[in-house]
Amino acid sequence: MATIFSKIIAGEIPSYKVAEDDKFYAFLDINPLVKGHTLVVPKKEVDYIFDLEDDELAEMHVFAKSVALAIQKAFPCKKVGEAVIGLEVPHAHIHLIPIQNESDMLFSNPKLSLTSDEFSSIAQSINKIWADSKK
Ligand code: 5GP
Repeated sequence: MATIFSKIIAGEIPSYKVAEDDKFYAFLDINPLVKGHTLVVPKKEVDYIFDLEDDELAEMHVFAKSVALAIQKAFPCKKVGEAVIGLEVPHAHIHLIPIQNESDMLFSNPKLSLTSDEFSSIAQSINKIWADSKK
């Protein structure tokens, strides 16, 4: 059965898309720790990120880098932190989280509650910067 992230990539479940190429898809986490919290997933359905082939893992990180740079421009922060957990959704994904402090990365923190308009506006601002970086 397709994972929820494969359904998102296929457009069967809506998402706030941030970036996409032929192999990867980036969209806002629906339970964000901070504004701009983004997930990067490979279109190839693999549960455990370290089951990806070496070249796929490398490409995923290069794609994630381009997204992280766009997040940082859209949401000025000290750094964009990267985390891989993957215990909830069995489809490899990287969390990209704009951070000011180490504690911004704590997954036990309360999640933000954003409106649909807020999610759309965040996704659009990151996407515009990301798309411009590809020109
Ligand atoms: P993990 O598997 O890394 O522990 O957590 C999965 C992450 O995916 C969580 O942060 C959760 O909020 C996010 N997530 C789960 N289901 C959906 C969904 O349907 N849409 C979006 N945008 N994010 C989701």
